[in-house]
Amino acid sequence: MRTPYGVECQYFYGDYRRGRKHEECRLIGSAPKPHHWTPDLCKTCPVPGILLANACPNMELRPQVTRGFLGFMRRVQVSAYCRKVRQDVSEPHIGCGECHTLPEIFIKNSK
Ligand code: SF4
Repeated sequence: MRTPYGVECQYFYGDYRRGRKHEECRLIGSAPKPHHWTPDLCKTCPVPGILLANACPNMELRPQVTRGFLGFMRRVQVSAYCRKVRQDVSEPHIGCGECHTLPEIFIKNSK
């Protein structure tokens, strides 16, 4: 579903039927304040970009809503974990490299 900022995100859910306006993020869920979800977080959230770049089903995204100076500028920060190799993924856009290794020709040329 598209977020209020027009980006496709599999975790966004909005129900606008019959005058309703219920929106939620099914990744962040119902975290307690001040780490709760509000629609403005979608504007700068890195999750849709990560999902576009890396659709690995073994990668688990772990979001955290953080606050900037004086509590303003809340943002979503994401860490990733690979369930297959059971380790953190340092670059979620790329993945851990276990399932989707680069072809050998690229590895030889980079040395
Ligand atoms: S906060 Fe991020 S993960 Fe959640 S619905 Fe918005 S774009 Fe998707």
